[in-house]
Amino acid sequence: MNQSNNNFLAQLPSIDELLNHELVQVTKEEYGATALTQAIRQATGLFREQFTQLDNAASLTRNEISEEIINNALAQLQTLHSTNLKAVYNLTGTVLHTNLGRAPMPEEAIQAMTSVARGASNLEFDLKRGKRGDRDDHVAAWICRLTGAEAATVVNNNAAAVLLVLNTFAQRKEVLVSRGELIEIGGSFRIPDVMKRAGAKLQEVGTTNRTHAKDFRDGLSSKSALIMKVHTSNYKVQGFTAEVAESELASIAHEAGLPFANDLGSGTIVDLSRYGLPHEPTVIESLNAGADIVTFSGDKLLGGPQAGIIVGRADLIKKIKANPMKRALRVDKLTLAALEAVFKIYTDPDSLNEKLPALRLLTRDEVEIAETAEILLPAVKSFVGTTYEVRVVDCRSQIGSGAQPVELLSSKALSISPVEKRGRGKSVGRLSEKLRSLPTPVIGRIMEGALILDLRCLEDANHLIRLLNADIHVDSTK
Ligand SMILES: *Cc1c(COP(=O)(O)O)cnc(C)c1O
Repeated sequence: MNQSNNNFLAQLPSIDELLNHELVQVTKEEYGATALTQAIRQATGLFREQFTQLDNAASLTRNEISEEIINNALAQLQTLHSTNLKAVYNLTGTVLHTNLGRAPMPEEAIQAMTSVARGASNLEFDLKRGKRGDRDDHVAAWICRLTGAEAATVVNNNAAAVLLVLNTFAQRKEVLVSRGELIEIGGSFRIPDVMKRAGAKLQEVGTTNRTHAKDFRDGLSSKSALIMKVHTSNYKVQGFTAEVAESELASIAHEAGLPFANDLGSGTIVDLSRYGLPHEPTVIESLNAGADIVTFSGDKLLGGPQAGIIVGRADLIKKIKANPMKRALRVDKLTLAALEAVFKIYTDPDSLNEKLPALRLLTRDEVEIAETAEILLPAVKSFVGTTYEVRVVDCRSQIGSGAQPVELLSSKALSISPVEKRGRGKSVGRLSEKLRSLPTPVIGRIMEGALILDLRCLEDANHLIRLLNADIHVDSTK
């Protein structure tokens, strides 16, 4: 570094001077003096370090230098203050997408959550008796009414529900499960591992593709505590297969004096075929077949908040609730408020497919999705520019979260592909990155060198159109 550089650096604006600059003053309210000072100090340090590499350093005026430092500091603070967890457009075609937060919640549930979030609530307070209450009471009666179960309790998610059931009934004992049902669900939930953590020993029964009643009878021992069925929600065993009917499993368990538990996973409380969707096993069916305990998720087909719902025989639910682990797995007031609102919607099955967003999206008419595609098309075309071709295409959406993995729903998508075939993969990658960096990120899926935006979950295109129009178009060649 030469002498003139040293002189120049000595004359850099002071921290105080920068803090008093009008560009900084207007943001004082938002960021606070401490954060601003820290950011300005950092940006000044960075300017000093990088100063020698600037071609035009000597020609910069003092005010230009101040602005350069300030802009860097403010950009830093803006990034820091931007929300990390935010709303996105789920145009992946998977309606209940685990990585994108699963079920969209009904307005009633959102309102119920805000009203208890703002202040105190009767979460564990019995208003009639003026005494301590049980948080489960806000939803247990609803669940029982809707499923015909004797009793119910709610925990953090279905993984927690399974863990709690196993720990309550089978600690240091054996649980019989068919080999064909030793599932892994995304996010490393594996039945054998959960079993271990719950302190239970897995007694595998039958083979991967065929399990018979005799296998279960042979697997019973004095150490057996539970027979469990796990809904193979994210795959289907096809071909030469055999599984034991739920009612038969229930009888085998009951003859041995054991409870029979069924982990339904997605578990719905209505018959989806009524709305033109593939049939998923319902909680009621499972209870009627003789299950003593049924576990299912709140944010899969039920269409509510993340939760694990456990229903079944009153004496067993009582034991589950008495397990100290329940305290660690319990849900908060927001979840309970949302669940209560969701269950209320279920009281009128005729309007469920309009009022429950998850079901509304799953049953959305293909013609309506096609209309959305046509409305969105011009905005997407001008956003991507002439180096990409945009077309409306037929596609298939899936329910997601493990429900009916092999059944698909007819839908419409915008397919965006680079006109230039060379370097296609890279330009599609760049385009999807650009869409992901929008203020409300747009998430699609890449298939055969094209970006596919499945419009099943886009009910109102207007906001997205404004978002796209506000942004400059992308050039696939850059
Ligand atoms: C999804 C699923 C779970 C886990 O449920 P979460 O609510 O994600 O914890 C457990 N068992 C089955 C069969 C599932 O499909």
